[in-house]
Amino acid sequence: MIDSHAHLQMPDFAGDWAKVLDDAEAAGIEYVAVIGFDLESSKRAVALCEQNGALLAAVGVHPHDASSLDDSAMDELRRLARHPKVVAIGETGLDFYRNLSPRAEQRAAFETHLAIAEELGLPVVVHDRDAHAEVRQILSLHASKLVGGVMHCFSGDEQLARETLEWGFYISIAGPLTYPNAERLRSVVRQIPIERMLIETDAPYLTPQPKRGSRNEPAFVRLVAEELARVKGLSLEDVDRITTLNAKQLFGLPLNENGDVIVYPIRNSLYINVTGACTNECSFCTRFKSPYVKGHNLSLKRDPSAEEIVHALTTRHGRSFKEVVFCGLGEPFLRLDVIKQVAKHLKGIGCKIRINTNGQANLIYGRNIAPELEGLVDSISISLNSSDAAKYFELCRPRFGPETYSAVLDFIRECKKYIPEVSVTALDIDPSEIEACKKLAREELGVGFRERHYDEVG
Ligand code: SF4
Repeated sequence: MIDSHAHLQMPDFAGDWAKVLDDAEAAGIEYVAVIGFDLESSKRAVALCEQNGALLAAVGVHPHDASSLDDSAMDELRRLARHPKVVAIGETGLDFYRNLSPRAEQRAAFETHLAIAEELGLPVVVHDRDAHAEVRQILSLHASKLVGGVMHCFSGDEQLARETLEWGFYISIAGPLTYPNAERLRSVVRQIPIERMLIETDAPYLTPQPKRGSRNEPAFVRLVAEELARVKGLSLEDVDRITTLNAKQLFGLPLNENGDVIVYPIRNSLYINVTGACTNECSFCTRFKSPYVKGHNLSLKRDPSAEEIVHALTTRHGRSFKEVVFCGLGEPFLRLDVIKQVAKHLKGIGCKIRINTNGQANLIYGRNIAPELEGLVDSISISLNSSDAAKYFELCRPRFGPETYSAVLDFIRECKKYIPEVSVTALDIDPSEIEACKKLAREELGVGFRERHYDEVG
């Protein structure tokens, strides 16, 4: 877990700095980003990082102190930013709530920070309080020239969140997510993919529930992660893995893994990465953009054998999960024989089995394979995505041509005969299509229906 924003250089931590870091380590915190807010605090952030390998630094002048950013301070900031432990510029931005520096000077300082970030190829840590419109205006001009950034302690609405993602920035979630009156923030968080979120404490401020009222510290980022897991319907392990990956990607830290993941947990399901190949080329497919699904790198140098999958399953104790799911970043039925062998093994030890598929298995094999799944598969989820053949062909670009859609419908009907639970899914790209797919699934095909978020995978 990474606390992406804390002010450990503040006097609040002077007496027990080492203990605070020990507590953070005991709570599973791998790194803490110590964020500067004026020139002196930026120097202290760098000095702390030189004493402890778990600390990273960001250097910058908070909008409250924007008036202090003269030419010599700017030169000093630029010099500090070249230190190897400095991973970002900030915090910078606009604060029109307290207005402790004149607004024009806040704007000028923000632009200066963005220029330094651009020049040095570092991401920016942005503070935005009651200044959404101006922050939006400035970042929309600069974002394409930056390597990235994060909106620290995000407090905007869903529209600002979506724009932030379009700029390639992350949204950082802090203690306020845990507050009883934060329903608006929780609603935004529900709509935004966790693949674009970081977690932070902003220590010593913004202490999460139930520690509210005491000093905040990096160990408490776990409380933010727990609430984020609850709001997103994920496990704490998922939130830890995904937000850690996000922070490492933003701050340019080593990722410690090279793909070839065969089994991977998400929530309380265990997934099997069967293949990276597919018979579709869906316009929305994430495998063309990134190999990551919920923080797991699913790139495979080669498809795993049945024996390798069974071995990987024994190390993850498949039975302790609610279900085992054949999935991955491709079409699992391209490996029917492997599925059958592994499913037989899993059934032998009492696992519940699901397959996520594009429904083209009968086209792949030129025969009806549904009877071969009887007794092996408990549940099947088939991507429908469209209510008619032409739209399906345009969206999914199947290798088997325009006739694919009717073959997928036939496969769904066949699965109903041999598999206890059959459902279809569609992406929430077009509300009228969602309604049409739901009607088709429930009224004509007699199967379950699930709507999937366009930008949520896994
Ligand atoms: S069917 Fe799934 S894996 Fe295949 S291209 Fe479409 S979204 Fe990607």
